[in-house]
Amino acid sequence: MISSLFATATCIGCGCTDHRACLNPHSGEPCSWLRVDRAKGTGVCSECQAFTSRWDEEARAAAGVAGTPANPTPATPNP
Ligand SMILES: [Zn+2]
Ligand SMILES: [Zn+2]
Repeated sequence: MISSLFATATCIGCGCTDHRACLNPHSGEPCSWLRVDRAKGTGVCSECQAFTSRWDEEARAAAGVAGTPANPTPATPNP
């Protein structure tokens, strides 16, 4: 029973994995990872570029957001 520390990553867009890469219909080349998180076992492959923005948003949120106001306080209008 060997549990791998480096589990196969699965694309959040098309569901391909390290062992089952999808092929580019134009070039016939197997996809590669644009984003990959081995710890989570998820990634975004080169055929699913549209998902990188979502991935980056989640990564930014998980990282704890640097450079944005942590607690924007809306101005309260006085009656
Ligand atoms: Zn994909
Ligand atoms: Zn793929």
